[in-house]
Amino acid sequence: MTEHAPRSAIVIGAGHNGLACAAYLAKAGLSVTVLEASDRVGGAAVTREFTPGYRVSAGAHLLHALDEGVRRDLALERYGLRMAAEDLYTIALDPGGQWLSIADGALGGPGALDADRVSMAKHHRQMSRFARILDGIGDRRPPRLGTQNWRDLLALGRLGLDIRRLGTEDMREFLRIAGINIFDVLEERFESALLKAALAIDGTLGAMLGPRSNNSVFIALHRCNQGRDWALPSGGMGTVSVALDGAARAAGARIRTKTRVAAIRMDFDRACGVTLEDGETLDADVIVSNADPKTTFERLLGARHLEAGFANRIHHLRTRGCVAKLHLALDGPPRFTGLDADQRGQRLLIAPDPETVEHAFNHAKYGEHSERPVMEISVPSVFDDTLAPPGHHVLSANVQWAPYDLKGGWSEAAKQGFTERCLDSLEACAPGLREQVLANELLTPVDLENEFGMSGGHWHHVELALDSFFMLRPVPGAARYSTPVPGLYLCGAGSHPGGGVSGRPGRNAARAVLADRGRQ
Ligand SMILES: Cc1cc2nc3c(=O)[nH]c(=O)nc-3n(C[C@H](O)[C@H](O)[C@H](O)COP(=O)(O)OP(=O)(O)OC[C@H]3O[C@@H](n4cnc5c(N)ncnc54)[C@H](O)[C@@H]3O)c2cc1C
Repeated sequence: MTEHAPRSAIVIGAGHNGLACAAYLAKAGLSVTVLEASDRVGGAAVTREFTPGYRVSAGAHLLHALDEGVRRDLALERYGLRMAAEDLYTIALDPGGQWLSIADGALGGPGALDADRVSMAKHHRQMSRFARILDGIGDRRPPRLGTQNWRDLLALGRLGLDIRRLGTEDMREFLRIAGINIFDVLEERFESALLKAALAIDGTLGAMLGPRSNNSVFIALHRCNQGRDWALPSGGMGTVSVALDGAARAAGARIRTKTRVAAIRMDFDRACGVTLEDGETLDADVIVSNADPKTTFERLLGARHLEAGFANRIHHLRTRGCVAKLHLALDGPPRFTGLDADQRGQRLLIAPDPETVEHAFNHAKYGEHSERPVMEISVPSVFDDTLAPPGHHVLSANVQWAPYDLKGGWSEAAKQGFTERCLDSLEACAPGLREQVLANELLTPVDLENEFGMSGGHWHHVELALDSFFMLRPVPGAARYSTPVPGLYLCGAGSHPGGGVSGRPGRNAARAVLADRGRQ
């Protein structure tokens, strides 16, 4: 036990959550140093040039989860955050031009069926109500189970009350569907295969599961909870991180890039500092890690400092990433069949029917990539002319499924093969696109791991599922940002409430450090 409240903190990693955490801690008066391995801040929330003259959001590409409180508290607009486009909606593409749009529960486009309109409005209203429950708990430090502490009891009571407030009918439905698969729920509710496939993507994006897997409703709720509206930051996702960096520096934090932490140092049973790759040592009262939990505990701390059961739980965390990122430089706007110029800039999906989405996932179970990948596409240059030369465009796609542990490995030939499969799907919906491609880049989960330092290249650092959420995320014993090691905290996507560019794990972790003052 230290005898004083912490006065200094080291944050390992300048991902957007590390930066948010640093800004809150520095604003509270702590002396904060952020150490980032890469030569730039932002982690997977970054903009970079992938071929001369063409810039893209290299990890996260659509902003939909940024916490309003974080944005306001840290005055991110003052540090350059601007939107090139807001209120984007979803368009499910169709090779025959029978696309459909989904905007706030309203269906549009030639592919929308009248039979689905009322069901869609009801589905949207209900999922939004359910998602607000997750939204509420995402804002808080999870309570401890099994204590008589009034704060923990109050937090659990609030959760129960939020569910009870749904009313009998919605409460029953929430309890019925929250843990099951989205395929069955969509079959009960809708006619259109294209609509069901679009909604199935929301239940699977970023996770190693298919529409018929349990937890897919939960993933859809997690996205829906984050789904304030789809937006494109001006200058790409890196603008969010640059704004957080500005807020943290203005509050007094020091941020060092090209500074990799090799180890977390211990003083008896307490984390007391870090050793850098070049051997330099730094001390602080509190160490907060934005690196994923496996990296933090296994590589930086070492299992010998952990109780066996906890070390075992960390070792078995599921961190097998499955999303690849495809970037294309195009010599003109992609001509998606049936879409006008403005519609090309919306959130576009390629998934013809739910069975195709399920089949695309099946490959990943056996260490293969999908033969007909499903995609979430953004063409940000439609609204943002800073990303490509005049008249030219960049296309960015999240592509599923591309398992981290591909059988035979992600050789150049395997990457080329998967890129071709992606181009086939794109060409079917945008004839002539292949001819427009000037350069391409495919980032597999292995590339994402190497570039962003996230174990397995996983979107959420750790698989997001009911067994790793809230009081269980990433594992019991480290679910409240504090860990079994005094003085060591987590603040990244592997912590509650999970991944996405939200800033919430970072902000919540800073609050936890401050709340624990005097008890360290
Ligand atoms: C392909 C892909 C697409 C995505 N698309 C979206 C999207 O469209 N919208 C969305 O909201 N979310 C999306 N996400 C999720 C989102 O990008 C992540 O959940 C989020 O960026 C995680 O932020 P973080 O700050 O917690 O961690 P990270 O961004 O992973 O940052 C961690 C930082 O720690 C640093 N670090 C690690 N180890 C060390 C060390 N030893 N020493 C020093 N520094 C270290 C890393 O270099 C990195 O900068 C996507 C993710 C992926 C992989």
